[in-house]
Amino acid sequence: MRDRERRDAGYRPQLVLQLRGGARVRGPEHYQHSIIRGVRLAQIAAELGPELPALQRLYPDGIARLWGSTPTQQVNNPKARALRERKAGDRVLFYADKVFYARARILHLFRNQAVAKRVWQTDDEGQTWEHIMALGAIEQLAHAVPAEPVLRQLGLPFPLRSLTLVDADGYDSILPFLPNVPGLGSSHGRTVRKRMGRKQFFRVLRQVLDESSDGSAPGIPLAMLWAVGRTAAAAEPSSHADTLTSLEAFLARHGGADEQSLLPPLIDSGLWGHKQAQEWEIDRFGFHGGRASSASDAATSDLSADVAGLLADVDMRGRAVAMLSRALTSNVDRAAVLAQVGLAGYDSAAGTLEPNLFTLTSPGNPAERQLVTIDRIVRSSRHAKAVKKLHDHRCQICGVRLETRDGYYSEAAHIRGLGKPHDGTDDLSNLLCLCPNHHTQFDFFALYIDEKFTVRRTSDDSRISALRRHPQHHIDQAHLRHHRRFCGLPK
Ligand SMILES: [Zn+2]
Repeated sequence: MRDRERRDAGYRPQLVLQLRGGARVRGPEHYQHSIIRGVRLAQIAAELGPELPALQRLYPDGIARLWGSTPTQQVNNPKARALRERKAGDRVLFYADKVFYARARILHLFRNQAVAKRVWQTDDEGQTWEHIMALGAIEQLAHAVPAEPVLRQLGLPFPLRSLTLVDADGYDSILPFLPNVPGLGSSHGRTVRKRMGRKQFFRVLRQVLDESSDGSAPGIPLAMLWAVGRTAAAAEPSSHADTLTSLEAFLARHGGADEQSLLPPLIDSGLWGHKQAQEWEIDRFGFHGGRASSASDAATSDLSADVAGLLADVDMRGRAVAMLSRALTSNVDRAAVLAQVGLAGYDSAAGTLEPNLFTLTSPGNPAERQLVTIDRIVRSSRHAKAVKKLHDHRCQICGVRLETRDGYYSEAAHIRGLGKPHDGTDDLSNLLCLCPNHHTQFDFFALYIDEKFTVRRTSDDSRISALRRHPQHHIDQAHLRHHRRFCGLPK
């Protein structure tokens, strides 16, 4: 917030060049711990004391991204100046092994020895990293930026030896070296990415999933589902993504994948946006007027704007979720994953009931929800009775009529389920008369009905039968199409 006020007041950000440090000072370990995984505010609440509310506002998910510097006895070396003169709103470039590999924005600065000791312990000399930056808009650069030309431009020694603050003019002068936003990048001769359409999205998604299916990035489908869940929550405010599940926590829970390794392929492919990068550069290019606040953007998803736009449509989401669910490794609890990211119901044509029927199974672990699907056997609505009567209880797929002591038994299946996210209607054009076996298969997307009313297997599109029809039973093609999308089919 403070940052935005500065920006509004015409504040021009400076740039902090931050050494990550090598193994001797546990740099890689610290980076992984307090930047990538983040620090739970709950665990340092006592040490934070009066800083706690400010950090809670900055990190609504309760996980802070912190980086610290040890104190210096000097008063006028570059490190002392940087510690003294850097401000919230300034940018940070992380440096290691002669490249800049990540960037971030300073949200808040504070000095707290107890927090530093708790998070990073002490170094060999008994010092701790007590000058702390609370960071936001953290972006692992998909392609690391060689540091030498940047430092030369700034008139600084290479390799970088110290925490260094670069003034706003200096920062402006090195912008051409940094990756920036597609579209805005043209000013530096970079290619402009074309808008991603529906076909291209599914092609790219398929490609990214295929490339990660060798086990190189098992978290890709998880990260995508997490992001699709955020988009679903934005498209449908009543949906119930667990807003407390950060991507890191979610990944750690389901496969131990590491966010840092997932971001480059997702960003390179264009599936995930440069939202954070945009946030970085927009104000530099004077594009900030009228933009939504970054905080609310970050809360919705990390998908690129094009992809988020496509997935605002429930049918497109259904198809994407079907592809992603299938790409999950077998040890993943699919229903639990979908429920946690607010996509419960996407794995059945019936959908789920409203969240008051989600039950907490373990009080210590609120994200662990039990999925409750709508009972497939529809209460005898007027339309359900009508469809069974029209077909005389014969299954529209196999023609079987189940005999019972008291007559025949069949089930009325909603093509587009009544539950979330389908929100189908209870009328004849949305119903089929099916035997219990085919009803189950239809609900769990084992089979679908094509435009010519041929019943086919989802696995290989092979024909099962022609759908048996009745002249007085009109079936809405739009409902069948919705069901096919959730099967993962293109149309
Ligand atoms: Zn049947």
